This record gives sequence, structure tokens and C-alpha cells, in this order.
Amino acid sequence: MVPFNDFHLHYQSIKPEIDTAIQRVLNSGWFILGPEVEAFEAEFAAHCGTRFAVGVGSGTEALHLSLLACGVRPGDEIITVSHTAVPTVSAISLTGATPVLVDIDPHTFTMDPGALEARITPRTRVVLPVHLYGHPADMDEIVAIARRHELMVLEDVAQAAGAEYRGRKVGTLGDIAAFSFYPTKNLGAFGDGGAVVTQDPSLADKVRKLRNYGQTRRYYHQTKGLSSRLDEMQAAILRAKLPHLDDWNATRREHAALYKRHLAGLEGIALPEEAAWARHVYHLYVIRTQQRERLQAFLSERGIGTLIHYPVPVHLQEAYADLGLQRGALPTTEDCVAQILSLPMYPELTQEQVAFVADQVREFVARYQ
Ligand SMILES: *Cc1c(COP(=O)(O)O)cnc(C)c1O
Repeated sequence: MVPFNDFHLHYQSIKPEIDTAIQRVLNSGWFILGPEVEAFEAEFAAHCGTRFAVGVGSGTEALHLSLLACGVRPGDEIITVSHTAVPTVSAISLTGATPVLVDIDPHTFTMDPGALEARITPRTRVVLPVHLYGHPADMDEIVAIARRHELMVLEDVAQAAGAEYRGRKVGTLGDIAAFSFYPTKNLGAFGDGGAVVTQDPSLADKVRKLRNYGQTRRYYHQTKGLSSRLDEMQAAILRAKLPHLDDWNATRREHAALYKRHLAGLEGIALPEEAAWARHVYHLYVIRTQQRERLQAFLSERGIGTLIHYPVPVHLQEAYADLGLQRGALPTTEDCVAQILSLPMYPELTQEQVAFVADQVREFVARYQ
């Protein structure tokens, strides 16, 4: 049996540190914007290599607040991808701006820089690449185009904490970046959480105010803000987990290498690629096959959990029908979406489990391909 994820094992692997962190917060009697959040922000900024990190309520809110801090207003256009978790685009809609969705590069599953420039208009304000599945987007190309048009760049790093682009950490490559600590992410809380990181003191300051009702000091409000804070409990849990992140990512990479050793060259199965300039952190291990439904059922019968990330691209979601994009509008996205399947990928997997999953995929190919 290989479940798609195993949070019991994950907790067990670091139980004493987590229990100590939670107890510390309970004993302190301080639950919102206190010493744990402040310490986590410093530690997370150091890990990312940015000057500032601001803890917020979720990844969606990290994106939303980043866009607001960039000055995005109703009527502006934000360019992002359709092949992403829907919240990337929800965050744009929350500001009243219009999402402009472009196609992806089929090798990295991330924004195709070649599709970007043609969609820039006088209303474009921000370019929002997503480092999907843990693989960085091609940031040099994207940032160069954005700079040429004086646009800001917001990175969606929800799936890629610790990934690198040409030796630099993702989250440091644009103007501002949004992380999610949703429990499944490479750095996950035991609840909701997110963070905004940036080198820019004025952007950091804006997010800091916006997350807390627009307050400058208690009961004095400079701007119209909202309530979106990382809480002390989650911050303490994240502080316990952060020192493990690099090791966990390294283990994910070992699992990916093992999958590759077992699956390379199999007919009809395309494995995830890692661009020469990328350090992939395998938030998800996504293969492509024309026989996706059949393979998923075959693995399920053998006790192997798989998922599809994501079965419907944003532009074909009911909620985004108002964008007016029909089937066929983003051909590479739609082609990938029909073929993708995520195999189990988390640090607590054993090498035997990875080998078992790979063997079952081979068995499927031998039988049906
Ligand atoms: C998880 C995720 C989000 C949203 O994060 P939440 O913490 O669930 O709000 C945004 N973008 C991407 C790419 C994600 O994977």
C-alpha cells in the first residue's frame, strides 16, 4: 500500500519538536502576531535569502496581498498561467483585476516566456509566473520581458520552497513572492498559513499593514486592510519544520532519481524533466501518458494513490467562464492536462515503496502499451 501522502508518518518523524513548539505557544498565552511569527519571519527570510518575510493567513492571501502591495486595482491586467492551482487566479480576481492566461512550456509545465509578450497591453501591471510542481519557471526570460515593459513580477512559490533557478533561490527573482504553507506543501503547517517575501522595504511594509486591518499601530488605520495573519501556533510549527526543509527536498530529489532509474525509457510514459538551469524540489512527481485513466485505475487496484494536478485548467473552469476562453485556446496546457498523473512523492516514502510504484507502472506498460 502506498498512499498518495502520509501525514501520520510525517508528524511521527518530528513529533517531539512539534509537541514542544505547540506547548510553548499554549503556555505563552499569545496567539496572534507575537514572538513566534516574528522569529519565523526572520528565519524564513534568511532561508530564502531575502531581506523581508511577512507571515500571512494562506498562500492565496500571500498572492492577494502582494498584488495589493504592488498597487493592483480593478481594471488592471495580471498575466499568469491557466495550468496552476486555481487560487493563483482567485487571488487576481480578489483585487478586481483581470487575469490574462497564457500557455505553458510542455517540458517544465511553467509559463512559456514566448507566449508572454504578445499579451501585454497598456493595462498590464504584474506578471505572475508559477513554479509549478516544484520546478522553477524560466525567470531570466520572464523578468527581462517584464522589465522592458516596466511591469512588476510576483512569483507564486507555493509549490517550490527551496527550488533554485541558475543557482538562485526562487522567491528572490522577481519583485515579490508568495508562499503557501498548506499542509501538503514542501514546507507545510498543520493548518493554513502563507508568507510574502521581498527585498523591497516598502512592499514588505505595505503587506505588513494590509494583513492586519491596515493598522500602523493599535487602533490607528492608515489604509483599508484585511485580516490575514499567520498565527503563533502555525509559526511555531513552521519554525520546528524549517530546519528540515533542505533535507526533505533532498530526499524528494532522491526519490525522483529512483523513479527515473526504474522508469526511464518506458514506452508511452514521459517522466518529469529538470531544465539545465533548474533545481527541482518535486513538490509533485508528474508523469505524462496517453493512458492516464487506465494507469490510474491499475495503480489504485494495487493500493497506490495517485492524483491529477489539475484535471481542469483555470480557463475551462465554470468559475472563469467569464474570461471567454474556449477549449482550444491554450493548446499546450490542454494537451498536458489530458495526460498528467501525479505519483506518490513525499520524504517519508521508502525506497522500497518508490520501487514498488515504479514496478507497477512497468507492469502496466508491459500489459497494455
Ligand atoms: C497551494 C497553492 C496556492 C494556494 O495556497 P493556500 O495556502 O491553499 O491558499 C496558490 N498557488 C499554488 C500554485 C498552490 O499550489
